[in-house]
Amino acid sequence: MNKNSNKADVIAIDGPAGSGKSTTAKILARKLGFLFLDTGAMYRALTLKAMRQGIDLDDEDALKRLVDNTSVRLSNRDGKLHVLLDGEDVSREIRSAEVSRNVARVAAKGAVRERMVQLQREFAETGSVVAEGRDVGTVVFPDAKLKIFLVASIEERARRRMRETDSAARLQEMMADLKKRDEADSLRDHSPLVKAEDAIEVDTTGLTIEQQVNLIAQLWEKKKK
Ligand code: C5P
Repeated sequence: MNKNSNKADVIAIDGPAGSGKSTTAKILARKLGFLFLDTGAMYRALTLKAMRQGIDLDDEDALKRLVDNTSVRLSNRDGKLHVLLDGEDVSREIRSAEVSRNVARVAAKGAVRERMVQLQREFAETGSVVAEGRDVGTVVFPDAKLKIFLVASIEERARRRMRETDSAARLQEMMADLKKRDEADSLRDHSPLVKAEDAIEVDTTGLTIEQQVNLIAQLWEKKKK
């Protein structure tokens, strides 16, 4: 039985870091009138709190206690996604290079994932969503009507990230960071980054954002029929 059958539609977009998931999902959600669910932002927010508190990011018990005592909420307001950590808007802080470097360690913990998945499903109870992350098609919403697995070459992904964050970091460094994070996400025990069997792979290398969004919107139109 589809968990969302009587309620809302879910479009699930997974893929490695920098493959264009967030930008694509955000625009697609606006186009379709769906909510945008950025699951990575939730892991980032928890990571920020753990870092602020100086928690050992490999201490699963400490992270479990932390996640049990933390509120992470997403709100789509003024066409923008706001990430609220215990009520504080941390939308900007969670994009720092420091958080990016640490987030995969926090996200690898089973206890953390369990709670986040619960929150993500609750979010989808409130309306149709375009959800993006690493496990949204495989674990969070296995019954999603449309599943996309976005990929792009590592060079292109690093270049996009550098433009996005206006970082002075060299391309090679950025590529190494992305590779490291992809490996951590793909090799972990809990909900690793993997393409769902029924996902459609879309390679965004060389595509514009508009082309990416239109391609997925067309796939959605076909699915709905
Ligand atoms: O998508 P974004 O780059 O913001 O994700 C940050 C990190 O959060 C990922 O590298 C991954 O470690 C974790 N994540 C996850 N599962 C998701 C979304 C993100 O483990 N569904």
